[in-house]
Amino acid sequence: MGRAPSTSGSSSELFDLDLEGAIELIKKSGARTVGVQVPEGLKRIAPDLAGEIEEKTGCEVIVSGDPCYGACDVDLDLCRAADLVIHVGHSEMLEGDRLFDKVVYVEARMRADVREAVERAADLLSARRVGVVTTVQHVHKLQDILEGLKGRGIEGVLRPGRRTRYSGQVLGCNYEAARNADVDEYLFVGTGQFHPLGVALATRKRVVAADPVTGSVSVIDIGPMLKRRYGAIARAGDAERIAVIVSKKPGQRRMDLARRMMSLGEEQGKRMVLVYLDRMEPDALVNLGVDAAVSTACPRIALDDQAKYPVPLLTPPEFEVLLGLRKGDYLLDEIE
Ligand code: SF4
Repeated sequence: MGRAPSTSGSSSELFDLDLEGAIELIKKSGARTVGVQVPEGLKRIAPDLAGEIEEKTGCEVIVSGDPCYGACDVDLDLCRAADLVIHVGHSEMLEGDRLFDKVVYVEARMRADVREAVERAADLLSARRVGVVTTVQHVHKLQDILEGLKGRGIEGVLRPGRRTRYSGQVLGCNYEAARNADVDEYLFVGTGQFHPLGVALATRKRVVAADPVTGSVSVIDIGPMLKRRYGAIARAGDAERIAVIVSKKPGQRRMDLARRMMSLGEEQGKRMVLVYLDRMEPDALVNLGVDAAVSTACPRIALDDQAKYPVPLLTPPEFEVLLGLRKGDYLLDEIE
């Protein structure tokens, strides 16, 4: 495991990348042209990575200049242009297409020590048996987390999910590993509030979040998120012309679901339009002149980025609420 090439002041200094393994694979494969795809938070290391791969393998390297948000977001054009593609930062997800066979995943592992944050989080946990969940950046710290909990007399439970590579790993679009734990309380270790909010919405159980970078711990409150989401549903109530968005990204493409949303809207007299796009941007909706949109793409777009959009952006379960077809607890949109 080598250090990520240093780019002064960038977040890359927080991560380790196993580039050596990828370089060995490139050499063995006989590839002449190698693509490199790097997520936005690590983009600044792409030139250094390209240089290192060129130097150590003699291959031509092409860096994807397009944004990359997850393992769902493999650059298929780059796969066509290159013999192998190094996809940095995410764990393997896609299979079943000849192009995906070209993709080598190089996960980014955060160096941050989790023990202090877990120690603080243990003070907030009330159950003696808790589900432990994290993102791929911290999966190598899961044993430290379990041991930290054990030291406080708490059993940590790890379970797998089908869309994720590691037990205990969650994605912004999938919380199966959390649901499978079948516990009354969760500890999420990682950065940001989106994933622990997702765990709480997906399980409806108490979630304590511990951030190993800032050391902060908190109990997740889903109230503000639910208020925002029901607000968006209410604002979409008067919409006459509604777009149903389908992403071209291979791990987000849910055409069948989109067609079902089209039919449900049309049955209720809405003017529906099916829109296929690679990158969801506010301007795309403005230019289409729609009053609202249903996004079948990455659920984070509607849940995290609504403020950027001039019209309400609903997830498929939220659209069903709008149409009066879904009652009861809020259902989080997940991709299986
Ligand atoms: S669909 Fe969204 S949350 Fe899921 S892996 Fe892709 S970018 Fe991440």
